[in-house]
Amino acid sequence: MRKVLACVAVLLFACAVVVMAEEAAKAKGAECFVCAKCAKVAVKATKCCEQDMAAMKVLEVKEGKATVCACAAGCAKCKGIDPAVGTKCECGKDVRMVDLTGKFVCADGKCLAIGDAAGKCGCGKDMVQVK
Ligand SMILES: [Zn+2]
Ligand SMILES: [Zn+2]
Ligand SMILES: [Zn+2]
Ligand SMILES: [Zn+2]
Repeated sequence: MRKVLACVAVLLFACAVVVMAEEAAKAKGAECFVCAKCAKVAVKATKCCEQDMAAMKVLEVKEGKATVCACAAGCAKCKGIDPAVGTKCECGKDVRMVDLTGKFVCADGKCLAIGDAAGKCGCGKDMVQVK
């Protein structure tokens, strides 16, 4: 009986991993939610300062900070800050930098994944907390 339970546990875990990978592929771009008032960051849509947090597309994650723009996460055109303008992304939307202290980011440093808890990034590396 114990063996059967172990098998079930392994199967459930395998299913969870597949679902996570599929979700990551579906999303294409990375997004996070930012409060317009206090600049607090959330991984899931929620309210802050009595208003809905704005969904922002993550352009870059570096040194515990994320550079985000107001594009939809799936926007394929926007890949970063427009060098000619400096404060706007390639789509002409406002860009801002937010502090990720307390959040988890990929140890690789190249992924744009932002998480609420420790775990594995879509690339297979560990997510580490920003201190
Ligand atoms: Zn707030
Ligand atoms: Zn953009
Ligand atoms: Zn865009
Ligand atoms: Zn990663």
